[in-house]
Amino acid sequence: MKPFDTIVVADWSAAKRAPARPSKDAIWLGITRSGVSEDPVYCRTRQEAEAWIVALITQETAAGRRLLVTFDFPFGYPVGFARHVTGSDDPFALWAWFADRIEDRPDGANNRFDVAETLNAMFEGPGPFWGKLDRDKWPGVPYRKEGIAFDVVAEKRACDRVARASSSCFQLAFPPTVGGQVMMGLPMLSRLRKLDGVRVWPFEDWQQAPVVLAEIWPGVIEPAVKAALATQGPDAIRDREQVRLLAMALSRLPVDDLYRVMAEVPAAAREEAWILAAELKEDLIVHAMETVTPLRNDCFALPPGVHWTPVAEALDLLQSRLSPVAGAETLPLDAALNRISAAPVTAVRANPPLPNTAVDGYGFAGGRGAGRHRLPLVAGRAAAGDAPGAVPHGAAIRVLTGAALPDGVDTVILQEDVVVDADHIRFSGPLKAGANTRQAGEDKHAGDAVLAQGEVITPATLALLAATGVREVKVHKPLRVGVLSTGDELVPVGADAGAGQIYDANRPMLLGLIARFGFEPVDLGAVADDRTALRARLDASAQEVDVVLTSGGASAGDEDHVSALLAEAGAMALWRIAIKPGRPLALGLWNGVPVFGLPGNPVAAMVCTLIFARPAMGLLAGKGWAHPQGFTVPAAFSKRKKAGRREYLRARIREGQAEVFASEGSGRISGLSWADGLVELPEPAADISPGDPVTYIPYGSFGI
Ligand code: AMP
Ligand code: MG
Repeated sequence: MKPFDTIVVADWSAAKRAPARPSKDAIWLGITRSGVSEDPVYCRTRQEAEAWIVALITQETAAGRRLLVTFDFPFGYPVGFARHVTGSDDPFALWAWFADRIEDRPDGANNRFDVAETLNAMFEGPGPFWGKLDRDKWPGVPYRKEGIAFDVVAEKRACDRVARASSSCFQLAFPPTVGGQVMMGLPMLSRLRKLDGVRVWPFEDWQQAPVVLAEIWPGVIEPAVKAALATQGPDAIRDREQVRLLAMALSRLPVDDLYRVMAEVPAAAREEAWILAAELKEDLIVHAMETVTPLRNDCFALPPGVHWTPVAEALDLLQSRLSPVAGAETLPLDAALNRISAAPVTAVRANPPLPNTAVDGYGFAGGRGAGRHRLPLVAGRAAAGDAPGAVPHGAAIRVLTGAALPDGVDTVILQEDVVVDADHIRFSGPLKAGANTRQAGEDKHAGDAVLAQGEVITPATLALLAATGVREVKVHKPLRVGVLSTGDELVPVGADAGAGQIYDANRPMLLGLIARFGFEPVDLGAVADDRTALRARLDASAQEVDVVLTSGGASAGDEDHVSALLAEAGAMALWRIAIKPGRPLALGLWNGVPVFGLPGNPVAAMVCTLIFARPAMGLLAGKGWAHPQGFTVPAAFSKRKKAGRREYLRARIREGQAEVFASEGSGRISGLSWADGLVELPEPAADISPGDPVTYIPYGSFGI
């Protein structure tokens, strides 16, 4: 089947004419074409929106483009309503009924409450329609829901209950209301469906239709809408964001997933309709989140007046400001190693799927008391992989480790504890019922959580996913991290270095760290201390990568062009962090891409990467915040430390004690490779002697 080329999400409205200036009281249409989001369309009236949709249908079908147009109101009423009103279960008969009666003027004035009165008159007692704008008008429509029986028809449709929508199509006023939208929407749908090529899902054959109309519910992506609104100012319009994000999320759903859920609707949907892709809620949220502008322009701003920021505070700030920017995709298990899960995963099947034996031995029913026992042995055996057979009560069967227990077996005795003669086994009790067996689902039941969102998929994770019948996982795409060196003095590895020049050591080091962290390293080369060149390189890089790590030029000196440029872009802060080794970190956004301006000094660059950039990139990649695990070990060194800064010493463990590198000089690159980790000395002054406890963080705890 052909995927949809163009997707529209319409936020319908029952309101009067909206103001000329974009506002919330209008109809918003979200659009994607070939997966690319367009600016949402603003329509002041229903007529304007309908005309726009009709024009789009004509245009897209003429161009041979498949079109999905979705609306945020129910396409049907609960089972039984259509028959009660029109004498037929056909939902289109009901659409026509509304089309014949609803009057809608260009200024938005309409007769929906009068029509509701007509409908209520067809039912015994008050309702089912209720809620109105004016207490004193429309006596046939109760103001409140109390006293309405909902006996002939239910208050909600099956899909509303499944999706936990709080609205009902019988509610005509007070939020959350959709009742008015349905009445004002069905006549429009009734006209649209008569256009060439248009089919309505799930009432008609939609599989080959050039244009499909379907119902959606923006509530499914609420977390993403909230996140999007949080990144915007007070003028953000919720409905606009909803349609924009939902259109993007729908367009990013793998087409097979979408068509599968479209094909599998329950019977009630033939009359009541169904919410498109409600079953793919988690996926829609993930896809919608991807399109939320994830980082605020001021995400690296520091509280004013602060001179030196303690490390812990700097880390807290980073943690609270950053959010995932890496996209998501679905991969088969064998391609998912080292990826980060983008949605929680539950077991498809129990582990173990059936009760089985944990040992080689003989199985029978029930435990046995102390004393000697003799049981007849049935012919054959149960081995791993055999379908479970049956064993008569009181008899035993040979079983091999991993075999599903045959019917009539719940206990196994070890073969070493048994004497076998021709057709009996003999052994001494006691033996508890259930001994040496594993219960079905004792590890995980079907439906249990097996993987949380934001976890790295390890070999052990793969074992659990495989065992529980999971075939594919939704994962984040690898975070692309660009590495850029700056400085007039730098020569690339392999070139001849003149006097006064040095080899670019940071780039291979940082690219290597990124690969070890599990991100995708992108070599952005080196640029001289030249603002124009640096600007051009950052512009190009921002198109290509999710994050940039620069080294050098990050302080506030004449040649510190990284910090100067980021400051010029208006989204930079120089973080003076109380850390040694370390110079100020220049943190900023370049065209929306976070830039970590690391110190040029390789030792400081590596320490700052491990301590700050790594956990921050973890968040951007979709992982939780990583706290490196340290261990308390005795020091093998002496050191006097002044109060104020947190210090990291290049260290390694020998004989159970932490040795530190002979020189703390930050130009001593050899100390980085000499070390196996870092000793972390907290901010207060300290006088450390051999044997004193210190915190040692192995490189492994940083994932390298
Ligand atoms: P800067 O932060 O640019 O003032 O650089 C601080 C020190 O780090 C200077 O001695 C630089 O030469 C050195 N440095 C800067 N970038 C690199 C690099 N990519 N590889 C090795 N050393 C560097
Ligand atoms: Mg420099």
